[in-house]
Formats: sequence, C-alpha cells, structure tokens
Amino acid sequence: MVNEYQIRVQPHVAANEQALRSYLADEYGFDVRTVTAVRILRRSIDARQRTIFVNLKVRVYINEQPQQDEFVRTEYPDVSSRPQVIVVGAGPSGLFAALRLIELGLRPIVLERGKDVHERKKDLAQIAKTQQVDGESNYCFGEGGAGAYSDGKLYTRSKKRGSIEKILNVFCQHGASTNILADAHPHIGTDKLPRVIENMRNTILRSGGEVHFQTKMTQLIIKGDCVIGCLAADQEFLGPVILATGHSARDVYRYLAEAKIDIEAKGIAVGVRLEHPSELIDQIQYHNRQGRGKYLPAAEYSFVTQVDGRGVYSFCMCPGGFVIPAATDKEQIVVNGMSPSNRGGQWSNSGMVVEIRPEDINPADYPSPSHSLTSSPLRVLAFQEQLERDCWQQGNRRQTAPAQRMADFVNNRLSYDLPKSSYAPGLISSPLHFWLPKFISHRLQEGFKAFGRMSHGFLTNEATMIGVETRTSSPVRILRDGETLMHVRIQGLFPCGEGAGYAGGIVSAGVDGERCADMCAQWLSQCS
Ligand SMILES: Cc1cc2nc3c(=O)[nH]c(=O)nc-3n(C[C@H](O)[C@H](O)[C@H](O)COP(=O)(O)OP(=O)(O)OC[C@H]3O[C@@H](n4cnc5c(N)ncnc54)[C@H](O)[C@@H]3O)c2cc1C
Repeated sequence: MVNEYQIRVQPHVAANEQALRSYLADEYGFDVRTVTAVRILRRSIDARQRTIFVNLKVRVYINEQPQQDEFVRTEYPDVSSRPQVIVVGAGPSGLFAALRLIELGLRPIVLERGKDVHERKKDLAQIAKTQQVDGESNYCFGEGGAGAYSDGKLYTRSKKRGSIEKILNVFCQHGASTNILADAHPHIGTDKLPRVIENMRNTILRSGGEVHFQTKMTQLIIKGDCVIGCLAADQEFLGPVILATGHSARDVYRYLAEAKIDIEAKGIAVGVRLEHPSELIDQIQYHNRQGRGKYLPAAEYSFVTQVDGRGVYSFCMCPGGFVIPAATDKEQIVVNGMSPSNRGGQWSNSGMVVEIRPEDINPADYPSPSHSLTSSPLRVLAFQEQLERDCWQQGNRRQTAPAQRMADFVNNRLSYDLPKSSYAPGLISSPLHFWLPKFISHRLQEGFKAFGRMSHGFLTNEATMIGVETRTSSPVRILRDGETLMHVRIQGLFPCGEGAGYAGGIVSAGVDGERCADMCAQWLSQCS
C-alpha cells in the first residue's frame, strides 16, 4: 500500500527518518514495522512563529518497495551523425540547451572561452593569493558559467512548474541530491556543483556532441540576414548559433553593438554584499537566542521595499556562505556570494541592491570609452563598469574590497575598524556613503532603516557592507522574437539565457536554454 500525507512536525521529527516513521505510525494508526520506505515529496520550514514547524508532504510505502527512481530520467540518444548546432557558452543556459538538442536529435558543439570546471578552480584560488583576476577564467567564465562556483540555489520566481521540474530532474540525473525535488528552497552548494557539471559534459560527449574549452567566440558568420556559424579561436564552426554567453561577456555586447545586431539597454540592480554573523541571522529569523539548534538549517531572509520610486531588496541570499570576488577583468571589484551544501559557514550574506532603470543613467556621466557613437544600448553597461572601477580604486587598486559597518553607513560615519569577514582577498574601511552615487547610497540607507524596522536586530554594526554588487543581471537585452526566440532581424541566431536578458538565475537560465533548443530544432526542420 502507498499513501501520501501532508504533515506539520517539529524539526527534530523531520530530521530523523526513524522519528518520522514513528510519528506517521502513531498519527495514522499503522504498525511502524510495516513501513518499508518514506519519501519526502515537499519540505518547507514555517518560521513565522516562536515554535518552528516543518511542513512535509510524504509518501509512505507499507509492505511494498518503491518501484521508480526518485527522479524522472531523460534519454540522450547518439547524435554523432546528426546536424550540428553551435552553442556558445557552457553556463546553465548553454549546457541545458546542449542537452535538450541531444534529446531532439541534434548535435551540440559547445564553445566555451574558459577552462573546464576543475582547472578553473585553480584560477579562482589565485585571486585571493595574487590579487589578480584572469580575464578568461574566473567566477563568471569557464565551464558551468556563473552557475558553477555559485551558491547553487535553485529556486526561481518563474511559474512554469513543468519546465522547472525538468531542470531539477536533469540535475538529479547528473548527481545532485534528490532533496532538491522536495525542498521549497532547493540548494546544491558550491562544493557539489562542479561534479554535476562535469557529469553533464560527459553526457554531451557520450552522445556524440563536442565541448571545446578556451575557445572564445569572436565573431558571427553572417550571410545576408542569416547566421551560418561563428569564428572562435581562429576556427570556423558552422551551424545555427545559440548565443548563451552570460551577463559578463562585455566583449560580446561590444561586438554586437559594432556589428549593428540589435540590442538595447536594460535595467539592472546594484548595491553591496551585506554580511552578518550567521548566528545572529539564525537568532533573528528563528526567534531564539540559542540560534538554530541541531535540526534547522542556517536561516534565510528576504527583504524588499520601495524608496523614491525604485525597489530596494535583498538578492541571492547565502546562509552560512562566503562573499567572493566575482570580477572578470583587471581594475574591477565585483562581489557576489556562495555557500557550501551544508551552509555551515560563520557568516550569512546577501546582495542588497537598488533597482536602476536605463533612464536613471545619463550617458554623458558614464561614457563608454571605445563606443561613443553606439554608447546608447551600452549605457547601463558603461555605468556598471564605471562603478566597478571606482570600487577598485577605493579598494587600493587590488581585490581588497571597500567596506563599511552597516549602522555606520546609515549614519554617514566612517568605520574605524571592520568585523572579521569571509571575503578572502581582504577588506579596507571606506566611506561608501560618500562615494557611492547618491541615488544608490540614499536608497540603500533608507532601505536598511526599513529592514531594521521589519526585523529587530538586523540593522547593526555587526554587519559589514562590501562593495560593489553589480552583476545581478544583464545590462543589455539582445532583441529576439517572442515566439521563435530567434533574433528579431538575424535568422539562425538564438540569443539565450541571462546574457541575452531573458533569464536570471540558474534554473531560469536552464529553462531558457531548453526553450532555445526547441525553437532552433523547429527552425531547422522548417529550413530542410
Ligand atoms: C557567485 C555567484 C553566485 C550565484 N548564485 C546563484 C544561485 O545561488 N542561484 C541562482 O539561481 N543563480 C545564481 N547566480 C547567477 C547564475 O549563476 C546565473 O544566473 C546563471 O549562471 C546564468 O546562466 P547563463 O548560462 O545564462 O550565463 P553564464 O552562467 O554567465 O554562462 C555564460 C558562459 O558563456 C561563456 N562565454 C562568455 N563569452 C563567451 C565567448 N565569447 N565565447 C565562448 N564562451 C563565452 C562564459 O565563460 C560562461 O561560461 C550566481 C552567480 C554568481 C556569479
């Protein structure tokens, strides 16, 4: 017999299978010895009140064994002799596009400017050691894209449940824990992601696809109004192109602007990383001086408010995580966050950002040096670049990031010292209230006051603001048709994922990758 139940239990029951079996047996009146398996289908924490509960949907097997895998498996056929499609970029959108192409009987040729996911790790370690960023191998560039050494949170605001479940199931098939199918806020963790990404690459190779590392696309090959391939590392790769190069490939945006391939400026959000001791966040969120105790995970938070007509909000919260240097070139400081699967670090951080619309930026203030004539679609990018350069200058022209205590910032005071931090390249005390553009610093100050009112203890000098968080989404949109997903003017070109302006986050990038593969296959079938 198999039954499903919706239950609400205390954390120690949810955390222990034996306790859960006993609870279910007592509650529903069956003999605990007849329970052969319990599968958790949904799990969420209700921390709104002083007593914390875990809501579970469980499937209970009585005198019978589960028949199926815990995830839905996708078949990947041999496509070695099938027509090829070029996928530029091996981030989540490129990888999911490639896997979907295989499902559809097409051969993906993946071109990636950076190194494979393991080699790449060595370059990340060098950033803190040498204070230098490798422009082709960093937290944004390399196999797995910005999604590899990321936090690996897999929740999205997107409502397309079927597509989201497909992405999560493909992750499970490639080695992610099946917990991600149950948790309300699924998370893989930066320690587990590289292995999953390597397994995805192996599926592509086993099916007859190709993956080329250190192969940067520099130009599209266009005949009339149709893309027939691209140039990368002095080689020609022929086929329609899924362009999945992410939000940090500024050279790609500049190339598109120069080649007059239609793009437009897009709004972003910018601000800082805010880091608290994780114990403090646990105490606040779980309403308990003892913190989270043995059975609860490091606590999350999410804040949003409006200040002077623009959103101010927390972004990409990493409980028990690290703040990391995410620049992609020299003379920039960009911060972001990640956490390991156990979220066991001493600090919890999140982006604290202010919404910026293209009309907020005066192009005259932020000239794009090499593109004065075509600067308009690149004006948000130019603003983003300038802020990162300012931050680098404030940070002693190294990767040491300018930082300020949170309450000092709100009160326009320089911090005489700084708390310890997870940010490995080091921090330097700096008056962010003074040098951040006023339309950002003022809104952040008001936002922090509002968050402090919403959550007692959150606005504190124990928290450190670290500058600057700028890569929240793409500053440019590559224009595509809403139905065919093809570029509005150039056939055979499928702008894809976060860099094209159609996704934000790992899961939505994966969903967009699959959709672009579907549309590319449809277009190819119409062409033949
Ligand atoms: C530190 C960090 C933590 C994050 N944490 C989370 C999280 O927890 N949850 C979440 O949902 N999102 C998170 N994100 C955001 C998430 O990683 C991105 O939304 C997602 O990776 C976007 O996927 P993408 O494939 O569209 O682009 P990207 O991941 O940016 O991938 C683009 C790829 O294209 C390659 N490329 C660029 N130009 C070229 C070229 N000319 N030729 C060949 N290759 C090229 C790049 O090297 C890169 O590998 C995080 C990002 C960072 C940086």
